[in-house]
Amino acid sequence: MDSRGFDPKAPGWLARARRCPSPNHDRRPESAVDTLVIHFISLPPGRFAMKTVEDFFCNRLDVHAHPDLADIEGLRVSSHFLIGRRGELVQFVSCDDRAWHAGVSVLLGRSACNDFSIGIEMVGDERHRFTRRQYARLATTVAVLRRRYRLRFAVGHADIAPGRKIDPGPYFDWDAVLALPAFAGLERPSADAAGIMGIRNTRRSSQA
Ligand SMILES: [Zn+2]
Repeated sequence: MDSRGFDPKAPGWLARARRCPSPNHDRRPESAVDTLVIHFISLPPGRFAMKTVEDFFCNRLDVHAHPDLADIEGLRVSSHFLIGRRGELVQFVSCDDRAWHAGVSVLLGRSACNDFSIGIEMVGDERHRFTRRQYARLATTVAVLRRRYRLRFAVGHADIAPGRKIDPGPYFDWDAVLALPAFAGLERPSADAAGIMGIRNTRRSSQA
């Protein structure tokens, strides 16, 4: 295992990410980590702040501060990483542990994608392009992750939870991302090939 880029004292934590440890995680089952799940997030919707997301993942967001936050009250979710509009990188959960980002999901017949995936949230929405700095940070982050984890798949949240999720949305440039050296060899199975039909209309999960 090549540990460059990781904190030698904290397994699964990147040396260069700012840490904001989230209680919303648990141990992974025996499954090996082989999948990257890309998301977008903006809280409140349309605003591109880091702090509200950090507060949300750490269960300290004041949902009464904005009317659009009311529907996430009580959710207990997290992600491994958050990449801000200026390329800032925050880590919430060790990649060795299971973060709660994918919710009800299926990839190639395997359900509960949190078990075997690393979640990366990009600050953004379905109406704005992501920034060059975000793509650059995504690339450097994934390059480090692949030294420790044998990643095989890179998918969007919508690929594994279609009908329920739309992120990372139409402005996430998959063609450019999959052409990055850091993503070389990673596959993005189509939703149809993933065999996910039948999970539509499932109940909303607390594990987003
Ligand atoms: Zn998502």
